[in-house]
Amino acid sequence: MSKLRAAAAGGLRRSGRRAASPAGKSRKGALLRGAGAPASAPAPPPAQHLFSDPAEIQALRGNLLAWYDKCKRDLPWRTLAATEPDADRRGYAVWVSEIMLQQTQVATVIDYYNRWMQKWPTLQALAQASLEEVNELWAGLGYYSRGKRLQEAAKKVVSELDGRMPRTAELLQKLLPGVGRYTAGAIASISYGQATGVVDGNVIRVLCRLRCIGADSSSPAVTDWLWDMANAVVDRSRPGDFNQALMELGATVCVPKAPLCGECPVKKQCRARHRVEKELALASQKLLGKPTPVPDVEDCGVGDCPLCPPAAEPWDSSLGVTNFPRKAAKKQPRAARTATCVLQRRGCHGAPEYLIVQRPSSGLLAGLWEFPSLPVAQDLQEEKQREVLADHLQAWMGQPVAAGGLQFIGEVVHIFSHIHQTYVVYSLPLDGDVTLDPSSPQSRWVTEEEFHASAVSTAMKKVLKAYEKQRGKESNPSMGPKRKRGTKMQRASSTSPGTQLSLHAFLRAPTAL
Ligand code: SF4
Repeated sequence: MSKLRAAAAGGLRRSGRRAASPAGKSRKGALLRGAGAPASAPAPPPAQHLFSDPAEIQALRGNLLAWYDKCKRDLPWRTLAATEPDADRRGYAVWVSEIMLQQTQVATVIDYYNRWMQKWPTLQALAQASLEEVNELWAGLGYYSRGKRLQEAAKKVVSELDGRMPRTAELLQKLLPGVGRYTAGAIASISYGQATGVVDGNVIRVLCRLRCIGADSSSPAVTDWLWDMANAVVDRSRPGDFNQALMELGATVCVPKAPLCGECPVKKQCRARHRVEKELALASQKLLGKPTPVPDVEDCGVGDCPLCPPAAEPWDSSLGVTNFPRKAAKKQPRAARTATCVLQRRGCHGAPEYLIVQRPSSGLLAGLWEFPSLPVAQDLQEEKQREVLADHLQAWMGQPVAAGGLQFIGEVVHIFSHIHQTYVVYSLPLDGDVTLDPSSPQSRWVTEEEFHASAVSTAMKKVLKAYEKQRGKESNPSMGPKRKRGTKMQRASSTSPGTQLSLHAFLRAPTAL
């Protein structure tokens, strides 16, 4: 859901046709009438794909809101939006929830949201936080630039807007960095009652099914129509609740794979459902040997309809309502490979400590902490891989590191939105009574507890887990070895498992293996 929400916003940014506009502008009139777009705009799609009957729109609003009042989930940001009397705090509370929800499931967000609002209950509090604190709290939520941008925007509101949140979708989008058309519409409608629609992944799915829209829903043209539609149907007196109800319907009833049409509050207004019902009726008549009328369950019948499925991919009866929505095939994530090393020493109380280093302040996982890591070519030979990693460690530690001392742990795969990342994990255990002073302020030794409290990515937590698992097997050989597909445990290690090599053995001039 959340990825689609981002896709919708991204598509809109790409299209760049209009800024968010309250309902009542752009092609709303055409949507309500099913005709009459401005002369310069392309001809509107046939009425079948639009909301052309005011009575039907009223029924849709009434049914959806009644269902929402009865069935909505109890979520902390909804409570704040409904009870917070201070308009700026209310807008801020909704804003934080919308940014967190953009790429993440509701169930995951709740805990992060509560901790965030407890720590920074106001824009002013957030504006005073450090990026390190923001990254620490955000750790594990993914898409880390969201937290950074949120904090930068909070600083701007405090320093340039006198701490006052803009009150309309247009101003929110214009004035706040990182606030796109969806987020602006959500904040304005939920916090300030502006009658403006929203389009996220859930709304796309529901609208496409309600109006049998089978054209690529991520294309700029279709996205524009969906925004117009969302603006046309949004309830004028309860826009925030209506928008949340539409999204809630998509998240809980009109779900991607097995929608619960029988329980749906708007099934009477759903054209995809009508189409399925008609097909079933025709099929049963045929079975009974009754003469079947000419089916009227075809696409809208207008050649080159911009909203019907492409001719090459017609309606598939076996899919039912899930024929909609459709979108262009997703681009495959690119493969990347990174060598990483868990460098461990004994801390002053005997507990293990790990060296972590900070990533650059821009780019992927900006400012986060990780084990010393180095991107490597996909086809780099293992021996060479060890050498470049040893050189990299040397740069952090300021002393030579023997490539042969690196113990191979295994491979850890983590999927980022656009990258299929494989970490080739090594370890380098050091003897206890040594003190290494990393030469850079962007590095530090941490205990396991400190590691988990630091701003580290989920991928690095997986790396540590793989390391600990391997160490557990080494100290308890009865546990292993169990080889899993894709994990080449100890394959390349030249050091016998469990051997704690002395610091001097590692830091002396590299030796040939
Ligand atoms: Fe979605 Fe089914 Fe409801 Fe139509 S009837 S909106 S397909 S759940």
